[in-house]
Amino acid sequence: MSAAQSMSMDPEPAGESRMKILLVDDTPENLVSLEAALGGLGEDLVMAQSGKEALRHLLNDDFAAILLDVRMPEMDGFETAELIRSRPRSRQIPILFLTGYRNEEHLFRGYDLGAVDFLFKPIVPEVLRSKVAVFVELSRSNAKLRQQADALRKQAAELQRAEQEVRRLNTGLEARVLERTEELMRSNEELQQFAYIASHDLREPLRTVSIYAQLLAKRYQGKLEGDADQFIKFIVQNAERMETLVHDLLDFSRIDVRGMDFFARTSCDKALDDAISNIGPLIAESGASISHDPLPSVMGDAVQLTRLFQNLLVNSIKYRDADAPRIHITAKENGDEYLISVKDNGIGIDPQYAEKIFGIFRVLQPRDRSSGSGMGLAICRKIVTRHSGRIWVESALGQGATFYWTMPRTA
Ligand code: ADP
Repeated sequence: MSAAQSMSMDPEPAGESRMKILLVDDTPENLVSLEAALGGLGEDLVMAQSGKEALRHLLNDDFAAILLDVRMPEMDGFETAELIRSRPRSRQIPILFLTGYRNEEHLFRGYDLGAVDFLFKPIVPEVLRSKVAVFVELSRSNAKLRQQADALRKQAAELQRAEQEVRRLNTGLEARVLERTEELMRSNEELQQFAYIASHDLREPLRTVSIYAQLLAKRYQGKLEGDADQFIKFIVQNAERMETLVHDLLDFSRIDVRGMDFFARTSCDKALDDAISNIGPLIAESGASISHDPLPSVMGDAVQLTRLFQNLLVNSIKYRDADAPRIHITAKENGDEYLISVKDNGIGIDPQYAEKIFGIFRVLQPRDRSSGSGMGLAICRKIVTRHSGRIWVESALGQGATFYWTMPRTA
């Protein structure tokens, strides 16, 4: 067998890579006995017959341990160890010196050069095997630790990149949200102004159209040819409808215009009573019965809270079923809010429209079956939002509807 040949005797330990052990001795027979003693470890044994040859191997490979004969021609074991220690790549490899002498000077020199142990010839195979096994194990654990540290370092560098990316995206997103909010606020204000101006300015010409259409109807009813009477009727009806729409739109756009000066401690009991008295004729005509629990006082705009109750009561009566309307109003404390509800026994609302009905000009019934403009609930939502609350409906078709809203509880 050539001295530089690497060989292994045992199968590779499961799941672990083989470690390399460098055996350096100028006597081939010694190498053979070392090889025989260490074969059972199942690691790769690399042999060198001189210090020079050993250094060549160390240029190409990493070793778990080096067994180094002290007495060799040309370059002895100590000189070889010095060169091994001088190279960063091989500085940490444990060196076991093989020597025939128990010479103190030798020992000191060896330990100075970083020897981890001395083995005295004649070598006892069991002692050699167990010592080398310890160093191989140490080296294997070290390699594993290094691998794990590497993996961790790599992971951290990834993580860092991901974090940077998230931070970059977040900054972009925040800027976009800010931009969009400003845009929305601008367009909201513009819309508000537009709604106000449009509804305000449209009122006059509309009134004129309506008055002249009514005049036409009065003076010429039955005196004109063909469908003229019918046409005049359409004009009158639609002008009136248009007036309602414009009036409600104006109302809607005015809600936010009322300043905070109108906010004061307001009794919801009183707001409800006012709403009931405002729609007295409708209640009487429909036979509606209205009951309520004690209601709280809140910080709010009394006129708008009355309007809120009024719109909801009118709806409960308008969208009644065959039975006379029965409406019940409750309030309860819920953390730092009040939860107020208006429950009716009317036709109910398909849950798929529960959110839509709060939109501007949203109606569920065909136009000809509803006199409403579809602004009632949009106005309610605007009032509740202005009072820092939320409003929603819980209902099912044919099951009546319960409108809920929240209002902050303030001291
Ligand atoms: P309007 O009553 O003028 O049509 P609203 O905004 O007040 O407009 O209501 C929107 C729609 O929601 C109504 O057209 C109606 O279909 C439905 N709705 C509102 N309140 C009730 C209720 N209490 N019961 C059943 N449906 C309702």
